[in-house]
Amino acid sequence: MSIQWKILGQPGADNAVFLTVDSGHAVEHFLFDCGEGCLAGLRPSQIQSIGHLAFSHFHMDHVSGFDTFFRHNYNRPDTPINVWGPAGTIDLMHHRFQSFSWNLHHDQPGEWIVRETDGTDVKGSRFLTREAFATVHPLPTIPKTERELFSSPRFTLDAFLLPHGSIPSLALRVIEGERKNISPVALQHSNHAPGKWLQALTNETISDEESINISGTDYSIAELRAEFVVTSPGESLVYLTDFRVEQGSANWSALCEWLQGANTIICECQYHHRDLALAVRNGHMTSREVGGLANDAGVDRLVLQHLSRRYSPSDWASMLDETKEKFARAEFPPEWQSLIPES
Ligand SMILES: [Zn+2]
Ligand SMILES: [Zn+2]
Repeated sequence: MSIQWKILGQPGADNAVFLTVDSGHAVEHFLFDCGEGCLAGLRPSQIQSIGHLAFSHFHMDHVSGFDTFFRHNYNRPDTPINVWGPAGTIDLMHHRFQSFSWNLHHDQPGEWIVRETDGTDVKGSRFLTREAFATVHPLPTIPKTERELFSSPRFTLDAFLLPHGSIPSLALRVIEGERKNISPVALQHSNHAPGKWLQALTNETISDEESINISGTDYSIAELRAEFVVTSPGESLVYLTDFRVEQGSANWSALCEWLQGANTIICECQYHHRDLALAVRNGHMTSREVGGLANDAGVDRLVLQHLSRRYSPSDWASMLDETKEKFARAEFPPEWQSLIPES
């Protein structure tokens, strides 16, 4: 199992994150935000594999690439496309879906499930391509639990509302399903010889109620799992963008609490700390503040993205240095390394 990620777009331009969660039995693809030109970094088959598109908020630099996403996926035949965002997302997507001339759509597949959260509830609506997206099919509103927006056996998606000027911006978190491995110690002490039966124990498509034959005898899968399978928490990745929280504030503490256990955070680094006044005015963070946040939250790794277009490559290098003064394990995405001058 693993979470792979790729930052799309360039430093100083729009960015997005393409994520792959591979459970070993199934692969899920996510896109966090969809700025202008970001999808140029993906192959069409990758764009058509994305099952979950989540928006932090709807400022233009996070949504300008949506037309490209829609063009590749509007009539996807296999599974619905899930769209996530803050309160207002359903209306916004409805308008967006309808902002084209539709007259050749009647026999087209395509289903979109749009969900929004205000931090308390999760509202949802379904839209169909064959209806030219005219009808809103409401889904039952469900309460948002403290740690979960949506979950499947393979992953959990969560969101946390951050202040971004006068609007909220959603922090997004993906956690892999629990990792299941065969205990070498249990196997060593067992009378059973290793064989194909071991694969069945970690195969999520085989239920606990089934049994399996080992050397001529049937054994319960549930009992074998209890004896041989060890579980450990899955990897956790957080995407934080377009927000401002002040160190020492209640928001800062609440965010650090929510970030507990995160392995990697991919975080905005919009301003150099010398431009703190601009960061405050525009609801963003500075490089030094982002380093302080990663340090206080105790995460493993901090990846910086979403830099203001006002800066030059030498500024980028000094912004990274400034972040590292507060959190040594800060870095730019691997794709950007060659663009950043040595400091
Ligand atoms: Zn932005
Ligand atoms: Zn914004």
